[in-house]
Amino acid sequence: MAEQEASGLQVLLHTLQSSSDRESILAILRLLGDLLSVGTDRRIRYMISKGGSEALLQTLVDTARTASPDYVILLPLFRLLAKVGLRDKKFGQKALELEALDVTLILARKNLCHSQNLLHCLWALRVFASSVTTGAMLGINGAMELLLKVITPYTQQRTQVIRAAAEVLAALLKSKSNSRRAVNRSYVPGLLRLHQDWHSHDTANSFVPIRRALLLCLKHIAKLRSGREAFLAAQGMEILFSTIQNCLDDQSLEPIISTGLQILRQCYPKSPLPLVTSSSAYSFPVPGIVTSETPRVLTEEDYEDDGEEEEDKDSDSEDVKEEDDDLETDVNKLSSKPGLDRPEEELMQYKAMCLELSCSFEELESKPGDDLNSDETEYANHHHIPTAASPKGLCLNKDQISGGQEKEVPVQTSLLSRVKMERSSVHVTSERGPGMNSYQNVHSNGPGIGSSGSDVSDIQASFREDAWDMDAISCPRISASFSNSTKTRETAEFIDQLLQTHPKPMVFHDPYLYMAKARRTTSVADFSMMAFPDFWGHCPPLSAQPMLQRKCGVQRIKILEDVRRLIQPSDIINKVVFSLDEPWPLQDTASDCLQFFSAFESGNLRKAIQVREFEYDLLVNADVNSTQHQQWFYFKVSGMRAAVPYRFNIINCEKPNSQFNYGMQLTLYSVKEALLGRPTWVRTGYDICYYKNHYHQRTAVTGAASGKCYYTLTFAVTFPHAEDACYLAYHYPYTYSALLTHLDILEKSVNHKQVYFRQEVLCQTLGGNSCPLVTITAMPESNSADHLEQFRQRPYQVITARVHPGESNASWVMKGTLEFLVSSDPVARLLRENFIFKIIPMLNPDGVINGNHRCSLRGEDLNRQWLSPSAHLQPTIYHAKGLLHYLGSIGRSPMVFCDFHGHSQKKNVFLYGCSIKETLWQAEATVGTSNLSEDVSYRTLPKILDKLAPAFTMSSCSFLVEKSRASTARVVVWREMGVSRSYTMESSYCGCNQGPYQGLQFGTGELEEMGAMFCLGLLVLELKSGSCSHQLLTRAAALLNAEEESLDVYLQRGSSNSSIASELDDEPPCLEEIEYGTGTDSSLDQEGSFSELDRQIQECAFHKDEGDEEEEGTGKGRKAIP
Ligand SMILES: [Zn+2]
Repeated sequence: MAEQEASGLQVLLHTLQSSSDRESILAILRLLGDLLSVGTDRRIRYMISKGGSEALLQTLVDTARTASPDYVILLPLFRLLAKVGLRDKKFGQKALELEALDVTLILARKNLCHSQNLLHCLWALRVFASSVTTGAMLGINGAMELLLKVITPYTQQRTQVIRAAAEVLAALLKSKSNSRRAVNRSYVPGLLRLHQDWHSHDTANSFVPIRRALLLCLKHIAKLRSGREAFLAAQGMEILFSTIQNCLDDQSLEPIISTGLQILRQCYPKSPLPLVTSSSAYSFPVPGIVTSETPRVLTEEDYEDDGEEEEDKDSDSEDVKEEDDDLETDVNKLSSKPGLDRPEEELMQYKAMCLELSCSFEELESKPGDDLNSDETEYANHHHIPTAASPKGLCLNKDQISGGQEKEVPVQTSLLSRVKMERSSVHVTSERGPGMNSYQNVHSNGPGIGSSGSDVSDIQASFREDAWDMDAISCPRISASFSNSTKTRETAEFIDQLLQTHPKPMVFHDPYLYMAKARRTTSVADFSMMAFPDFWGHCPPLSAQPMLQRKCGVQRIKILEDVRRLIQPSDIINKVVFSLDEPWPLQDTASDCLQFFSAFESGNLRKAIQVREFEYDLLVNADVNSTQHQQWFYFKVSGMRAAVPYRFNIINCEKPNSQFNYGMQLTLYSVKEALLGRPTWVRTGYDICYYKNHYHQRTAVTGAASGKCYYTLTFAVTFPHAEDACYLAYHYPYTYSALLTHLDILEKSVNHKQVYFRQEVLCQTLGGNSCPLVTITAMPESNSADHLEQFRQRPYQVITARVHPGESNASWVMKGTLEFLVSSDPVARLLRENFIFKIIPMLNPDGVINGNHRCSLRGEDLNRQWLSPSAHLQPTIYHAKGLLHYLGSIGRSPMVFCDFHGHSQKKNVFLYGCSIKETLWQAEATVGTSNLSEDVSYRTLPKILDKLAPAFTMSSCSFLVEKSRASTARVVVWREMGVSRSYTMESSYCGCNQGPYQGLQFGTGELEEMGAMFCLGLLVLELKSGSCSHQLLTRAAALLNAEEESLDVYLQRGSSNSSIASELDDEPPCLEEIEYGTGTDSSLDQEGSFSELDRQIQECAFHKDEGDEEEEGTGKGRKAIP
């Protein structure tokens, strides 16, 4: 703004305040009105900065205090006040200080019968009330009584005034002291009556803003416990429920529906979860004092103090601030390397885990002419790399294991041909899943019907004739040879029979081996059954499944159904049909209800309650020795009818939001489908949403400082067959026994002349299971000194996964990594020849086995124990860290350390790394970073993966070091072992919103592919490093040239300075607002009515102006990285 204009404005304001001349005041007001009615908000904000608010308020007070106030001055003045006040965050405070509240209230009282004057007073009150403190003051001075007088009784005269008054009242009720006053003076029944009057008379929906303002009044009052009680006593639930039912189909009533629903949710009486205790149904005597972290406080039931200037807070900027507060800004902590956390001599025990460094390979007598490389045959192809052709997978059924007839050479498709650049040809449609090909084709002409094969009808027959109910297929862990029970023996025979009649070539799976592994797996509850899918195996579906399109209004319909339980309880059954806590048998097979079961590895259903005929409330078990972390679920359901939509509600979820609101579906495995030749976990479910419910655990129960609230995941499933046994899970299960099975098969599958594959035990877990450690590299060419030297000098790469048991996606990524590394892919061969991989595929076996979501058997998050793990309390972490320390002590710290995880809030796959500079920069720390030296090599691998891997995106990566993450693997390995490329790799539970898989949910195939792509990334990283050997470069170049230009291109591209995409929003806006908070106000309310108030004032103003657009600050979110 020009200097002249600025000084001109100041002169005007000064004159306005000092002048007592009516004409000059009017002239100035007109001039200001003109000035502010054109241009943007910036002009108004400038005026505010120059004391504009004070000048106008002072003029108001001076004018109003005269014996007969001059409304010719007052009306334009009020309009200016409202316009300026809307943009001045301190306006309420200023009005209070200049005593403008009282004069305005007095003017309003005097003008109760003069609509135009009253309307102007109300506008001013509206902006005064935007500050909660000022609003409270207005309440004390009787403003609410005045407003109630204006809006009661119901009348359709003076609707403009009624609307303004109702809106002021709603604003005042944001103050809790005002709400309390309203409850004490019994405003609630009156407001409800007004609501009903307007609702029944306004059939043309002409007065939606008035109706909404009345609901907002109730909504604010309902934030108080006493307000909710008054609302319930006045039949508020019934009244609003029927209003909303009437409005549902009318789009123009959206503001009423959403506000009404918020009130219903707020007022739904809180109740404890239908559980005897929130502690896990399983407890395990663990060593040491269990220091389970205190439950996260999600909300406060009721804090009745007056919030101060609540709406001055911008919730977005608050969040960012909190996050930044968590950043580590202590340069010493960031850059100093702590000492060893254990006696140095203890490290020697890990020498035995690095036999590759001492083995002399005497069996490898170097015989001239015996070219090891000529033997190209390997058993295992990396089957998860999508290929158009369908190589026959490794088939290891009982009678085939020894036969070795699987030597046929699989079709070779190098990983290189599958990289991200080939966006057009990615397998979105039909190139999925070699491994299921041999029978998939047979059944491709329709689900289980018709010509396809005698085995289908055979199986169906066997169900009928032998009366094998599906429960028999629950697969006892103990086979006949271990038990005398006839039933068990029969079952085992039946399984044998099934496997013989349905020999399915399942890649890297073998039911008998699985059974053997499961038998030796130790669980807290001593599981005696296996889940059929884990036993029988899973083949990825033929094509990736798209994300579920969320239907508009699905959440409100579910919530209304929940409310209906309360007010129309007649059809509610409320029968417990499954429970880990009740001693008596609950499974009543005679009745028509579903049967549930989850006493198998990774299963964790705790209770099922039939609510309506086809609706069940489910509760999942807390982590062992914990009262929390319910999110993961895995259970069996049987006894279903065909073509009936069943609704399931998991009512004790804990996370505040979920990808289930953004297109994610759960997974289902049907036993009948499996026996028909489709043994596949598929994404399933519709009408899915995730929202805060009315369950609440009180302080006394949680032992925390405050109670906590719960969330419902609701979904509908129509099962594929009647009387089937189906398994439902949060994500594709991957059990500990599956891992052991898989590792054994992998070990058997590799060509041991070429691949050095060693499986050993890192340590025993608290639960008595062994934690596997895998070493993979290439065998030395011979045992000559040179070859052994090359072999032993290969740099290490360390990869871990599944420290969080609920993150089964991490195991599928790991499966892809392992299978790729031992495969005959030329890239895998190069990797083996140049690196030694140390892999701990499951850092938390006990958690996985016992169906935990987050913790170990001690109820603690193992990924918060890396700073000072104990050998007795966190053995897997202690020894994983010990192994890394050992490698460091012999100068062999890994080039890359990566811990695979799953992410429940974001899409895609991305890395978290560590950078001092980025952390300090983000925290805007005052410490100079210019003299800190930090190489930026930590960014190279994610950049490479961004170019290679279809699911990966750089834009979600972060390299900040948070205080709250100081004890995670990523930060500890970075800081204590000095590994600059230390990462957490997060894979979405859902899928991708970018790249070739955009709009698709992950299948196991995509996750496994990511694991393979990660390995390719490691190779490219090496090629780009200065230390890369000439020989490797030459060989890689030959390989890459053969693979068209693909890799060359990233190598070139990678070296240039690629621009970093600014951080994407986590989520696109959802179709309906997901409002969880009962205590926080949607800022939309406010802004909506503000610009609306603006509009009303403009309409009334002398000068109609156009184009006065809002220019709200849009620079939210994190700054782009420089
Ligand atoms: Zn995790």
